[in-house]
Amino acid sequence: MSPVKIKINDKEKLYIKWDDDFEGTIQLMKLRRNCPCAVCQAEKDEQSSTYIPIFTLDQLTVTSMNIVGHYALAVAWKDGHNTGIYEFKQLRNLSEELVK
Ligand SMILES: [Zn+2]
Repeated sequence: MSPVKIKINDKEKLYIKWDDDFEGTIQLMKLRRNCPCAVCQAEKDEQSSTYIPIFTLDQLTVTSMNIVGHYALAVAWKDGHNTGIYEFKQLRNLSEELVK
């Protein structure tokens, strides 16, 4: 399972079309909140489950995206955070099906 098309919609959603024709979107805030890098995961572990992170606009603006190998997408954010590498499987799990 891999993406055939990836783009940012309306500056707030990541749109992905998959090779099985599934089309889904992920809110950038949700994407950032689920950043799989070690730093963000460590921060998350320290927070209680009721903690709601507040992000700045820069933290929610994607500056570049690159496919890593055949399994993941690296996302760079405008605040300089670029260590998050999202496995396709994780992206698919975060996706909400696009209602047409
Ligand atoms: Zn991170």
